[in-house]
Amino acid sequence: MKFSIISLGCPKNLTNSEEFTARLIGKGHELLLDPAGVDVLIINTCGFIASAVQEAEDEIRHALQLKEKGLIKKVAVTGCMVERYKEKILQDFPQLDLVFSISEQEKIEKTLQKSGLQVSALPKTLHLPEYKMSLTAEHTAYLKVADGCNNRCAYCTIPFLRGPYRSKPMEDILREAELMTDNGVKEISLIAQDTTSYGQDLYGTPQLVQLLRNLLQNRRIKRLRIMYAYPHRVSKELADLMASTPRIFHYLDIPLQHIADPVLRRMNRHCDGSQIRRTLDMLKKQIPDISLRTNFIVGFPGETEEDFRQLQQFVNDYEFDNMGVFEYFREPGTTAHDLAGQISPALKQERRLRLEETQSRVIDRLNTRLQGQVLEAIADGPTFGRTYKDAPDIDGQVRFTRPVQTGRIFKARVVETDGYKRTLEPLK
Ligand code: SF4
Repeated sequence: MKFSIISLGCPKNLTNSEEFTARLIGKGHELLLDPAGVDVLIINTCGFIASAVQEAEDEIRHALQLKEKGLIKKVAVTGCMVERYKEKILQDFPQLDLVFSISEQEKIEKTLQKSGLQVSALPKTLHLPEYKMSLTAEHTAYLKVADGCNNRCAYCTIPFLRGPYRSKPMEDILREAELMTDNGVKEISLIAQDTTSYGQDLYGTPQLVQLLRNLLQNRRIKRLRIMYAYPHRVSKELADLMASTPRIFHYLDIPLQHIADPVLRRMNRHCDGSQIRRTLDMLKKQIPDISLRTNFIVGFPGETEEDFRQLQQFVNDYEFDNMGVFEYFREPGTTAHDLAGQISPALKQERRLRLEETQSRVIDRLNTRLQGQVLEAIADGPTFGRTYKDAPDIDGQVRFTRPVQTGRIFKARVVETDGYKRTLEPLK
């Protein structure tokens, strides 16, 4: 069978796509990058927010047009949107050949030979996949250490879509990392809905630091990157370990969502503004060159102008290297959906634009300081790549003034900046 896959959404979804793509290849099926001519096109959807659902629906429509023209034989849909809206998908797109749950991936081969909806319970534990392949560039890979989430933020559908937090056993992760380095991976980004909770369910206490220590034993892992940290679980022990080795990028993705206490409380975040500030201060003290990525939600129900101004001031003061701003979306089924004080779309948009404006002034200031600095970079192609401040596919890429071997990790001097666009001169 010839198949192609479209993977939408976040890196966590991408790792699912990698697992079942590898499974199919392992069974002798052929992956084509161009869907034209395939027996089945699989769309692995994201269902996190309305815009993601819209994007998935557009992809499904486009795929069904290709099928109508005879360019592909079957269209299969899986992923978060299926967990969430399976009935609606079946109703809106009766021409689909298959709508199946991501938890069915072990049976994907058989499933693809059938038609109709296949949804089963989420697996209780995560294990080393039988097959593994990378859909990212050869030298970089995501390693999912856990799935699901127990945090129950009031606006978020992930705990319903992905189930409770389930860690992969540590030995499986170490083995998976070995398989990655066997295949030439140099940079491994650890992902989960919340990496800082890693191991809590299996070992009784969070084990991220121990996991990192064990991964560092594998000398072929050149760099590790930690994504999706939950603020109050970022420990001094973690910061000390990061500070002690250049092999863990001095980068942390730490989604904060807000800083005003009344908003954080209504969001059901398990930390307040002063805890968040203490965590960030500790990180900056222990790791002076740390690069922080975060995201915020504006226009959450009940957010006052005063709450928003606090957030603006905070963004101005803490100078995040990378930041995403989302307008709150009223997700059906979440606690926040029924909260009083819903904010008009116009005001949400206005606040998003104001916060983005604040951030763009921050970036101008950071750029002034970056000029002439020497940073560690990794080449994703001969003339482009990322610095340690940029996670693959999530943050921006930089340009190099002269060609460099793809996959190389090297020092480079910042010679030009314009917003998030940066040019670096590789050093010998
Ligand atoms: S930490 Fe909160 S926002 Fe993140 S996945 Fe869990 S519930 Fe959703």
